[in-house]
Amino acid sequence: MKNLVILGSTGSIGVQALEVAEQAGYRVIGLAAARRADVLEQQIRQYQPAVAVLYDERAAADLRVRVADMPVRVLSGLEGLCELAALPQADMVLNAVVGMVGLRPTLAAIHAGKDVALANKETLVAGGAFVMDALARAKVKLLPVDSEHSAIFQCLQGCPPKDRALKRIILTASGGPFFGKSAQELQTVTRADALRHPNWSMGQKITIDSATMMNKGLELIEARWLFDLPPEQIDVVVHRESIIHSLVEYDDNAVLAQLGVPDMRVPIQYALTYPDRVPSPVKQLRLEDWAKLTFYPMDNEVFPAVELARHSLAMGGLYPAALNAVNEVAVDAFLHDKIPFTAIVSLVSAGLQESLPAPRSVEDVFAADAQMRAWARDAIDNLK
Ligand code: NDP
Ligand code: MG
Repeated sequence: MKNLVILGSTGSIGVQALEVAEQAGYRVIGLAAARRADVLEQQIRQYQPAVAVLYDERAAADLRVRVADMPVRVLSGLEGLCELAALPQADMVLNAVVGMVGLRPTLAAIHAGKDVALANKETLVAGGAFVMDALARAKVKLLPVDSEHSAIFQCLQGCPPKDRALKRIILTASGGPFFGKSAQELQTVTRADALRHPNWSMGQKITIDSATMMNKGLELIEARWLFDLPPEQIDVVVHRESIIHSLVEYDDNAVLAQLGVPDMRVPIQYALTYPDRVPSPVKQLRLEDWAKLTFYPMDNEVFPAVELARHSLAMGGLYPAALNAVNEVAVDAFLHDKIPFTAIVSLVSAGLQESLPAPRSVEDVFAADAQMRAWARDAIDNLK
């Protein structure tokens, strides 16, 4: 029985992870969220973890009162998250918080020798080089939870990384709610339109990222680090049905794909039980239910986010962290009706014009993140 810590347990991935963990017979020894004390209280009563964290101090104080009758230690803040991620009894940490706030806890878990199941893609976008470096030193595993990366990871099994003869990987993208729209039409879409994803029910931030296609840009950067591939070997194809979760192409032009109904419990479970496969409550794929699967090239004119992500990787250093920071601030502003939809990607594009030094340590990533967040807030104020 493995001891599991779940960061972001009250979110879309977190809740599904708890269900998977319970089914697979894991002991949940730590839970963390941002501020929803009522939901976390309920989870503490159900799963009885030894430690719980709320990032927000006041919410943590509220939680302490709520669970005063339980033998659980309640911590707060980033230090609390890092302490939980490094909990001595933990075998694995599933990081499913949203945003680059997940970077320090990811590093804390790796440094403490824990395997990490990673949903929090912003961690690798902002600090990929430093995370991979820490991994190599600690000799722990980083298991992808993102469905595309899990698919690629699954397709790479049985192919030794040393001589894997990999030609390229192909990330599939659903195209989101605005597939087929013109640049003109995008100018008037609303928050409600953008939150209506055709295939997946997810947290608000990633749902907006899917609508701008920045999610695929973040995933391109995530794949670059996870699979140690240059961006030229990572392609994106739009696949509307989200049945093929991604593909790998070998040197002999053989292409392997991983398929399944769109349900995050499959990649979550594979990350937790790897290398084993165990039964899942997820619906079986019946190919005959899908008369056809469709594929389209990316429309980089209307949705320039993937090309911006490629550009940030080409610039290297702190630019992917800058892209992420501006995107996080812009998505938040859009969700609060402060900027129009199309301003999100325009702001990211403008942010990449800023000048940033070459990073010497991971602290420079945090500094660039703070600098670019401040830049984005100013740029948003100037839009008004
Ligand atoms: P949600 O918004 O549904 O959940 C986010 C979770 O993180 C909540 O538990 C939230 O707590 C917590 N959280 C947010 N900020 C902090 C913080 N500062 N400290 C501690 N906890 C925090 O997001 P998702 O589950 O959709 O996504 C999580 C991550 O997984 C993202 O990086 C996303 O890109 C990635 N992902 C998600 C997929 C999905 O299907 N949802 C698919 C692939 C990747 P609270 O409830 O208190 O706010
Ligand atoms: Mg994904």
